[in-house]
Amino acid sequence: MRFSVFGLFAGLLSCTIGAAAAGDSASFKTLRLEGNGVRWQVAAKGQQRVLSYAIVAQDVEFAGARNCGKMTKLDTLLSTSQIAPETARAEIAAAFAMWEAVANIGFREAADPATADILIGAQLEPEGWAFANVFYDTLSTEPVKPISRALICLNPEKRWKVGFNGDLRTYDMRYTITHEIGHTIGLDHPSGGGQIMGYRYEETFRSLQPGDVSGVVLLYGKRQPDSIIVASEPASQARHASSVRLYAKRWGARAFTARSP
Ligand SMILES: [Zn+2]
Repeated sequence: MRFSVFGLFAGLLSCTIGAAAAGDSASFKTLRLEGNGVRWQVAAKGQQRVLSYAIVAQDVEFAGARNCGKMTKLDTLLSTSQIAPETARAEIAAAFAMWEAVANIGFREAADPATADILIGAQLEPEGWAFANVFYDTLSTEPVKPISRALICLNPEKRWKVGFNGDLRTYDMRYTITHEIGHTIGLDHPSGGGQIMGYRYEETFRSLQPGDVSGVVLLYGKRQPDSIIVASEPASQARHASSVRLYAKRWGARAFTARSP
């Protein structure tokens, strides 16, 4: 049987941030991009950083993205897989909600995709199953570099579904989006399986596993129910100004056997 895989072989991106012991990498691993740890800038104590996300509403292009560089609406992907748009929207919201439930980071659907922190769309150049792309500020003096924007793209030529049915060639949207969100907030594939962030698609669980939770809590802290919500600046200006400093990282099924330059 051919294994279905999400992405990059875990061995290349080692190390964790901060206090995590080396042994933790079996259950979770934080992203290292060009040797840098990355995460969305965390809010001040007692506050919660809230990121905005949106489904692509028209064709978009991201120069410099190594992945998801050209995206379009999900419409064709959804109609091919007979998934109603409102169902997809609910599944995406459920995926974000899982991360929000455990860590001190929040997610809201953006009114305008143009200013969304995390954009979700269908690939215009289909490959693999799903990819994530993270832009971050390479010139930041922060020890853990701030993520500035992230993309999630799904292959419209694959079949998608809602829920599990044992067919590992047809991916569950919620599971896949949850996995890709993990990348967009700074998590990589752990060396072991049994986690949503594991590189292999499996249908034994559909929610965050202990390693996933440990990873996101390490990056953002535990969920603080009483936090004051701090929205991201709607400033696409800052993003445009720093676009030359952005570095994009690629994950995906093809990277399982060969790493892109
Ligand atoms: Zn992945």
